[in-house]
Amino acid sequence: MNNSKKILLVSPRGFCAGVTRAIEIVELALQKYGSPVYVNHEIVHNKYVIEELTNKGAIFLDNIDDAPSDRPFILSAHGVSKDVESYASKNSDVVIDATCPLVTKVHVQALKFFEKGYKIILIGHKNHPEVIGTMGQLPPNSIFLVETVEDVEKVSVNKNEKIAYLTQTTLSIDDTKTIINALKLKYPEIGASPKEDICYATSNRQKAIKEYAKMCDSFIVVGSNNSSNSNRLVEVAKKAGCKKTILLENDYHLKISDFYSDKIIGVSSGASVPDILVQNVINRFKGHYKIDLEEVSLGEEHVTFKLPRELRVEHK
Ligand code: SF4
Repeated sequence: MNNSKKILLVSPRGFCAGVTRAIEIVELALQKYGSPVYVNHEIVHNKYVIEELTNKGAIFLDNIDDAPSDRPFILSAHGVSKDVESYASKNSDVVIDATCPLVTKVHVQALKFFEKGYKIILIGHKNHPEVIGTMGQLPPNSIFLVETVEDVEKVSVNKNEKIAYLTQTTLSIDDTKTIINALKLKYPEIGASPKEDICYATSNRQKAIKEYAKMCDSFIVVGSNNSSNSNRLVEVAKKAGCKKTILLENDYHLKISDFYSDKIIGVSSGASVPDILVQNVINRFKGHYKIDLEEVSLGEEHVTFKLPRELRVEHK
């Protein structure tokens, strides 16, 4: 215990308003309808959350055909295509939409651009459920996916056509800016959403890590491998100057000896991560080193979203 370390616990971190709402939706649906309730895909990308909800009676499906019609069916926070939405509403007696309202905002904007005759570019990660859901808002081939600056070269929209871009909500702010600049160079008149598509939670977590990671010898982002926003936080910390940054599912995967020579360790978490996982990591360190815990923050978040009507408690 003679080795002492400082842990910089960076905020904003952890649950965003969309994740909080999605988890609450599953819990309230279980209370209202009993178990099981079926959920399209993982409701949010965090293993701990999925296990907890599974223990309470939620069943997560990769294939919506497996959903029985007589049980509630919940659409995940990442949003779904129009096809999945209409299949669910035909197949299931009760469908509850847990799509984050900030993802829905992108869906609505896609439709507006489409109706005004724009060709649409979506900046995002192929195969991510949110991207599949957003592209599936419109008929096939209405949206072109761009993942990198190199992809911008491949966009074949004519320069005299109307063109606009949208983005996935959980991208790296800096990488996305580079892609947008390349698009603007190619299409100077390109349109955009009136408000940023990258959400407040993604943006706040990245800004905080960018500010504090450079002060750390190592940095731990608590989050699951399949979480887009958590992976982006790792990239941001590395780019900010902390090369020794890892993504950690939970404290069981923490190899304490890897941090032996570090004096300052930064810790934060993705938007789908319950804070208990962060506290467990800190407690593991406390069991091995003398820890000086300093909480640092770039500001508080006060965003909340309304629950779907079918789960709201009516106050008379
Ligand atoms: S990360 Fe952003 S878009 Fe995704 S659920 Fe949270 S608030 Fe919504």
